[in-house]
Amino acid sequence: MTQPVRSFAQFSAHEDAKTRLRSLARDLAIRALLLTKRPGRAAGGIRFPFWHHVFDDERADFERQLRWMKRHGDFIGFDQAVALLASGDKIDGRYFCLSFDDGFKNVLSNGAPILDAVGAKAMVYLATGYVGESDPAKLKGFYDHGQLLIEFMDWSDAKAWLAAGHEVGSHTRKHACLAALEAGGVRAELAASKADIEANLGIDCRHFCAPFGVAGTHFDRLRDPRLARDAGYESFATGHRGRMGQSGDPFFLLRDHLLAKAGDHQLRYFLGD
Ligand SMILES: [Zn+2]
Repeated sequence: MTQPVRSFAQFSAHEDAKTRLRSLARDLAIRALLLTKRPGRAAGGIRFPFWHHVFDDERADFERQLRWMKRHGDFIGFDQAVALLASGDKIDGRYFCLSFDDGFKNVLSNGAPILDAVGAKAMVYLATGYVGESDPAKLKGFYDHGQLLIEFMDWSDAKAWLAAGHEVGSHTRKHACLAALEAGGVRAELAASKADIEANLGIDCRHFCAPFGVAGTHFDRLRDPRLARDAGYESFATGHRGRMGQSGDPFFLLRDHLLAKAGDHQLRYFLGD
């Protein structure tokens, strides 16, 4: 039987050398850029950092990142963030609105106690067709890491996550690349995943996150946010980086992807303006 992956070291050993070199090069480039970047005046706005996992060997770094954010702003939830954007009001404060894509179990087992310790809440976007899934053959369609098995939350985990004060949103049912689907297929993914969450958790599912997250490549910039709105969602999260300011579009949420190992210099670069 395949043993579940517990550490980032184990997980990233499967990255190819090219990927590792690229992230090293990017890290060096960021350090160089920070030398010349003027420390601008802190602008108000909302940042949406997101992660996929908190493996056992990522706990200390994840806590360091949350404490960095706590020193630089306030944590808010998605309902509050979306209401702020939709209000059109000027956003004076600096806010962090946190999320996790995919619904791995280590987000609950390792992430939740740390979020609790710093007083932050977070969203988990579930790909509902994989909730509780542990069959490596079926997981192959989800992530391409050979025989690696990462445990997914089951519905009782998702209930525990909600009971701790966190939020749950949709990440489609099959972790679908929306751009590859006709409008009818997108509508079906939007509706089915929302219905799964509402039936199993007894909540309103108001927030959606597009798998893979890049406009034009993984979803249709004009069509898919509109279909999400029609399906009853109140926000549409992407993988595009940036700060959301006054009148930012809740149906094109900019988010900053993070690995727990990203140092404070990277947080300053990605989240610090
Ligand atoms: Zn995903």
